[in-house]
Amino acid sequence: MPINGLPRAAAPAPPSHPTEAHGIRMPRRPASLTVEVRRTAAREDPAVPPTFPFSAIVGQDEMRRALLIAAVDPSVGGVLVFGDRGTGKSTAIRGLAALLPPMAAVAGCPYACDPGEPAGLCPHCSGRSGARKAQAIPVPVVDLPLGATEDRVVGALDLERALTRGEKAFEPGLLARANRGFLYIDEVNLLDDHLVDLLLDVAASGVNTVEREGLSIRHPARFVLVGSGNPEEGELRPQLLDRFGLAVEVTTPTDLPTRIDVVRRRDAYERDPAGFCAAYAKADRSIRKTLAAARARLPALTVPDATLEAAARLCLALGTDGLRGELTLMRTARALAAYEGAETVSLDHLARIAPSALRHRLRRNPLDESGSTARVARAVEDVLAR
Ligand SMILES: [Zn+2]
Repeated sequence: MPINGLPRAAAPAPPSHPTEAHGIRMPRRPASLTVEVRRTAAREDPAVPPTFPFSAIVGQDEMRRALLIAAVDPSVGGVLVFGDRGTGKSTAIRGLAALLPPMAAVAGCPYACDPGEPAGLCPHCSGRSGARKAQAIPVPVVDLPLGATEDRVVGALDLERALTRGEKAFEPGLLARANRGFLYIDEVNLLDDHLVDLLLDVAASGVNTVEREGLSIRHPARFVLVGSGNPEEGELRPQLLDRFGLAVEVTTPTDLPTRIDVVRRRDAYERDPAGFCAAYAKADRSIRKTLAAARARLPALTVPDATLEAAARLCLALGTDGLRGELTLMRTARALAAYEGAETVSLDHLARIAPSALRHRLRRNPLDESGSTARVARAVEDVLAR
């Protein structure tokens, strides 16, 4: 069994009707004018064991740090995780989401709108005045399967209702379910380029717009995109690569004690999930508190000119395209400083986060065959004179 072979949270069953049946002719009956949004089914399943605790993950420091940074400041952009199978990628994301505090959501809303944020409400909620009932729900982690069609991802016309009742109803897709949570794509490098493009667009804007078959829907879709992939099985185009905020590498641990520790913990978890989780509850609680403090601290944390200048010099030295490198470097260093409770964003924060923020933004250099991580490390040495 792979190390990250956790049973996935039960996903709602896919729609039983063919959303892809573009060939079906629509009835000539006049469709109702209002566009309704169908409620999604309840997400919890008591048969699903508790999630493997984030604090129980052994090693993989860079990946865990990148995910924590994205949780402190989702505006850093998505996280790309490169590496071997069975290195706990999916486990880490689920563990992180599970330790985030439950979020208040409008009851019955398929987009899990935040009742405290009227501006971001969806078509389901915005037309309803008066009291909106709020409920606490877990932060969603949505898996995007490789074979998913665009309709399934963005949502589509509910054909069943259109055909049987002549109503134009919107069937929300995976992006609706991922709102305010995480969207996880295993093997993102095998996904269709245009779908990755679309996902990155929505992730950046926080809004999903669907215009088709006479439907026009806009709904909030703010999520942290996490893609994993094995670079040996297909590459992402550079234009897509550099739109991810952070890129981290994970490897199967090679030292004996770590391997033994990983196997021992996985076995203990599978034999007694509840008992195992209880043993790590305190450590998870401590991360949750640190995260909450970091989020509260972030808005007031400024980046000194010297740090910003160093970030720019680093990107110049590495020849990264555009200014996205600097921007991500600054934001991730700030989120890291917030997480560590620092008073200011220092060159040390910058140096530590530089490989994750920059390694996927380097152009191939035919004269330099060393790996991108080594090139970033060298530039950090040179520019920051550490
Ligand atoms: Zn809503």
